[in-house]
Amino acid sequence: MKLNIAVLDGDGIGPEICRGAVTVLERVGEKFGHEFEFKHYPIGGCAIDECGDPLPEKTVEGCLKSDSVLLGAVGGYKWDDLPGDMRPEKGLLRIRRAMGLYSNIRPAKLWKGLANASPLKHELVKDGIEIIIVRELTGGIYFGERGRGSDENGDYAWDTERYSVKEIERITRIACELAVKRSKKLVSVDKANVLESSRLWRKTVHEYCAKNYPQIEVKDVLVDNMAMQIVKDPAQFDVVVTSNMFGDILSDEAAQITGSIGMLASSSLGDTKRGLYEPIHGSAPDIAGQDKANPVATILAAAMMLRDSFDLTAEYAAIEIAVQKTIDEGLRTADIMEEGKQLVGCSRMSELIAQKI
Ligand code: NAD
Repeated sequence: MKLNIAVLDGDGIGPEICRGAVTVLERVGEKFGHEFEFKHYPIGGCAIDECGDPLPEKTVEGCLKSDSVLLGAVGGYKWDDLPGDMRPEKGLLRIRRAMGLYSNIRPAKLWKGLANASPLKHELVKDGIEIIIVRELTGGIYFGERGRGSDENGDYAWDTERYSVKEIERITRIACELAVKRSKKLVSVDKANVLESSRLWRKTVHEYCAKNYPQIEVKDVLVDNMAMQIVKDPAQFDVVVTSNMFGDILSDEAAQITGSIGMLASSSLGDTKRGLYEPIHGSAPDIAGQDKANPVATILAAAMMLRDSFDLTAEYAAIEIAVQKTIDEGLRTADIMEEGKQLVGCSRMSELIAQKI
């Protein structure tokens, strides 16, 4: 396959971790006979410095012309005092909108060999866990009508949770596409015992799956119970689909139980195969430029791109196996370092993973 990948390095550790991911993709290309062309575009603080805009037009054009997009991270001390619209993070919101992305997929994976990093008891996580939370990203209470008012009891404020059948169906499709490639089990999280919007969510998810993905088994879990189950028995979950606000909260909880932010990737997808793939962490300005960053989250984001944008499942698996091998051999970046293991930097870790493909 010949593939054109837009790379948005961004700020802080962004360029180092993207370089690591490109090293691994190049190796995948050699091994599996693909030709990757990487084109770099500015986003975030460096784009403000270069073009006066956190998302320059050339970046949007480059992303829309590409087959898929890899992003490092944006932000840093230098731009902290800029006004809202000029903040580096605005570039992220705008690129998601420009690419029509309405889902966020976050796998919270605890790797075998890294169970000590988890705050949970060893017996709960000893075999590793992987919860993939598919979060609706452009609807619900974060985007609904809101306001403030005043009555005889004083000031009040309100926000609205609103979902259409179309919005629920399209996020369900993305979750189902993942579930069919994995356990064929889908958990849908809502609050249907209280919220009308959740009752429509639940009905729509079931009807859509029954009609389009009858091979998938769908189970409903109430959001309060889900928050409990993630810490009580996380290994029971595989693919989980939920609304914007519930997904926001649950994906942070699930990430936390893996204990290592430098190992977690995420993707945003819309109606096309072109997605935005990135680590969940930020630009880590405290360690930028020191070759200390863990590149694995970005390498796994690149692996997700191969699987979810290009259907290259064997290539995805090859990267996952290479990462597991480096862990098994005791190689660690500083953030996941333990006694008796071997400390390596960002570029060395990337090379070692690439060599194992
Ligand atoms: P952060 O994720 O950048 O860092 C939190 C802590 O985790 C730091 O101690 C950092 O050194 C460490 N860390 C993060 N990634 C690491 C990695 N790959 N390897 C090793 N250690 C790692 O969060 P923050 O400090 O709150 O934010 C820093 C900047 O990043 C801010 O400007 C923030 O706005 C921005 N940010 C960007 C994104 C994004 O681009 N998607 C997400 C979150 C924060």
